[in-house]
Amino acid sequence: MSRIPENLQGVHARIAAAAAKVSRHAQDISLLAVSKTFGADAVVEAVRAGVRHFGENYAQEALEKITEVRRLQKDGVPDSLQTAVLTWHFIGPVQSNKTRLLAASVDWVHSVDREKIAARLSEHRPAGMPPLNVCIQVNISGEASKSGALPDDVPALARAITTMSGLRLRGLMAIPQRADSVEAQRTPFRALHDLFALLQQQGVPVDTLSMGMSADLEAAIFEGATIVRVGSAIFGERDYGH
Ligand SMILES: *Cc1c(COP(=O)(O)O)cnc(C)c1O
Repeated sequence: MSRIPENLQGVHARIAAAAAKVSRHAQDISLLAVSKTFGADAVVEAVRAGVRHFGENYAQEALEKITEVRRLQKDGVPDSLQTAVLTWHFIGPVQSNKTRLLAASVDWVHSVDREKIAARLSEHRPAGMPPLNVCIQVNISGEASKSGALPDDVPALARAITTMSGLRLRGLMAIPQRADSVEAQRTPFRALHDLFALLQQQGVPVDTLSMGMSADLEAAIFEGATIVRVGSAIFGERDYGH
């Protein structure tokens, strides 16, 4: 038996408890289920348990999974799966030779960290699709993955993205280094929130703070996260096959 439905209940309870602590509404925080390394079957189970937003961080894996889930939605017995409208988010490093594939297959990219990549995504977004939602990934605390724009470079990058017709700038994303205490976790999230507030003051229309994962979603919610990206707490520990 899969633990996905009960894991999801646990994650929703954590989101609700954290939101309540800072007098926020839980419905203002979207849950992005990070399905990387798990198959289409796990995605389908999560859909049946009510999840609509999925995150992937390898382009090829994302494309294959999206295609397979669509096939299962089309061919399966009529149930809630068939009518579910899913939103796919790319959250991994964007290689320039993958921008065409990504621009044609996902709804969001959270990990734009330079103008060249943004321009390519915009150029490759197919004309019949709505603009691709993007977040700027920020290297807020000597970011674990070492990717991300430097905070000082974010305002100019944000303004550049707002001029690109294939993109819609939504906000900021970060993956801070691990920290054990909630207080220590809050520091980089607060810095990302401050940068977000600065953009808003400058008149840049942003509405999304993508921050918080399985281990630190409470700290992120305390600091204003609007999307939390949760993998292992929903799907279980990942097995990278080595
Ligand atoms: C894998 C991943 C997550 C989810 O991490 P968990 O610790 O499993 O919740 C979130 N964001 C990004 C960018 C990831 O690559």
